[in-house]
Formats: sequence, structure tokens, C-alpha cells
Amino acid sequence: MERGKKIVQISIIGIVVNLVLVAMKAGVGLITGSIAVIMDAVNNLSDALSSVITIVGTKLAGKEPDKKHPYGYGQIEYISSITISVIVLLAGFTSFKESLDKIFHPGDTNYTYVSMGIIAVAVLVKFFLGRFVKSEGKKYHSESLIASGTDALFDSIISLSTLAAAIVSFVFGVGIEGYLGVVISIVILKAGVEILLDSLSSIIGARVDTEFAVGLKEHINQYPEVQGTYDLTLHRYGPERIIGSVHVELPDRMNARDIHMLTRTITEDVYVNYGIILTVGIYASNTEGGNFAQIKEHLKAVVAKYPDILQMHGFYVDTVRQQVSFDLVIDFTSERKQEIQTEIVDAMHAAYPEYQFVAVLDSDFSD
Ligand SMILES: [Zn+2]
Repeated sequence: MERGKKIVQISIIGIVVNLVLVAMKAGVGLITGSIAVIMDAVNNLSDALSSVITIVGTKLAGKEPDKKHPYGYGQIEYISSITISVIVLLAGFTSFKESLDKIFHPGDTNYTYVSMGIIAVAVLVKFFLGRFVKSEGKKYHSESLIASGTDALFDSIISLSTLAAAIVSFVFGVGIEGYLGVVISIVILKAGVEILLDSLSSIIGARVDTEFAVGLKEHINQYPEVQGTYDLTLHRYGPERIIGSVHVELPDRMNARDIHMLTRTITEDVYVNYGIILTVGIYASNTEGGNFAQIKEHLKAVVAKYPDILQMHGFYVDTVRQQVSFDLVIDFTSERKQEIQTEIVDAMHAAYPEYQFVAVLDSDFSD
């Protein structure tokens, strides 16, 4: 795959540049005795390690599904993200501890023009690396490249502050190393916590992005026969493999052949345009006979009295069985789900005693 190869190539450039920076900064840090510069080197080392893990994780995650793991290996990407977050957190803790120590036991720093020059070069290198990786990431639509490019741009600011500390120390003879080290550590720790929480949230099963869910439903609603799209669920097996289901409302005069053709077309369309394997279930909607429109209006009025109800759908009047069925999506925070369900069924039955009312509670899976 061309794209994957390119992403790996750019990551390798990033790793090599970062390792060169680590060597330069570690050297300068040890010679000048600057804890801030050493911690900056540790930060760059964790960047290089993260890129290595990203490459390995991407390779493993791309493995084809097999009998034992029929959903593929995509979830490995989350595991590698967690590993990266642990490395970043360890770097942050170490850096924090060392910097605190430096505040209470300040040592001498002895900067020279040469060491400051090296730090300045390192700042520029990191800045241009960041810009390069970010623009390549945009070109190849790689979230991880964009993220690491942004991270590198941010890191160049950290390095710039170590240069500032060096100049302050050189000109005024005042050491602000330890304090700066603490600030850098907090930035590193924050990044680690964010990566960790993001990956954990994905593994637990995060809510589908609202814009994405709404866009996908609107896409399906464009089919003329589809009168509404509901109950969208999406399960991620890694960032690349998404499997889900949806309900569409169709006129009750459509027969199995029409529905077969339509749902197959939708499934294929969604796979081609979104890369999602979607199972399409159906609700029928009344087209003729009886007073279904009147009952529906009445139900809508009843439902409107409950702010906890987010949506009513799947409404159908079965005139043969004298049964009316519909689904209610009630807010997760509502503590009266069952009561609301009963109250609505009772209210509808009171208004139309000749019908049985069946209300199904749906989960609020997506917007
Ligand atoms: Zn439903």
C-alpha cells in the first residue's frame, strides 16, 4: 500500500532527526549542566520511541482478519497508543522529579556560545521537522502524522524556552533551569494523560462523533424510498475497521425484492463512501388505510410533553392485528424510562382503546 509506505518513510525521517537532536541536546546538557536541556533531550527521545511504536503498531494492526480474530487486528493501534502514553508519562515523571531536585539543589551551569548555538540549531531543526511532518500528514490524511507534527512544533517552543533560559543564565548569571524543567515536565505529563485517556475512551467504546453520525444518516436519507434513518450503531475494531447497523423507514407497500435491492445498495454505498460495514434493518411506514396519520399526530403530542424523550420513530399501525408499535429514545440520564414508557402506552390506549400499543425503548447510541 503506497500511503502506508509513505507514512512509515516520514516516520523514519522523524525518528532519525529526533535521535540526532537527542544526541546534540544530551551532549550540551551534560557539558553545561543544564537540567532543562537534558529534559528536553528526554522529551525528544520519547518522541522517537513513540514513532517507532506507531510504525510497529500500524504494521501489526494492518494484519488481515483470520479465523481467530475475524474483526481484524485494528485494536492493536490503541494498545500501541497506550504504550506510548506510558513512555511519555514516565519521561514526564522523571523530568519532574529531576527538575524539582534542581530547584532545591541548584548546580552551576556554564553555557558557552557554542552550546547556545547548538541549542538554537536544535530549535530550528525541530521547527522545520514539525512543519514537514504536519504537511505530509495532511497530504496523506494520516492523523498520527499530523499529531506528531503538531507535537514537534510545540516541542520547538519548549526548546526555544531552554535557549531563553541559557541566555538568561549566560547574561545575568541567574539559573531558572529547575523552574523551566518543571514547566516542561507538566507539558509532557499533560500530553501523556491526553493520549492515555483518548485510547482508553476508544477501547471502552466512545460515542460516534455527532457531525459524522448526522452526515451518514443524511446520506442514507437521500434515497427517495427512505423516509428516515434511525438507531445508528457503530463499533470500531481499530481506526480502520468499523462495523455497524442502522434502521431505515420504508413505505409498507415495498416488497422483499425492492427492499433487498435497496438495502444492498445502501450497504455497498456506505462501504464505498465511508468504509463502514453496515447492516440495514427496516421499519415499515403506513401508506394507506385507517387513521394512522391521526394516531401518529396524537402520539407526537403526547411525546412532546416529555423533555426526556429525545426521539420517537418506527411508528407503524398494523390494522390487521389492531396494533400500533413505535420506538422511544430516552435520554441516558433519565431515571423514569420505564414510567414514561408505561404512561405513554396508557395515554395512547385511553385515546384509542381499539388498538394495542407497543413501545420499545431504544438506547441513545448516536445523534
Ligand atoms: Zn428504533
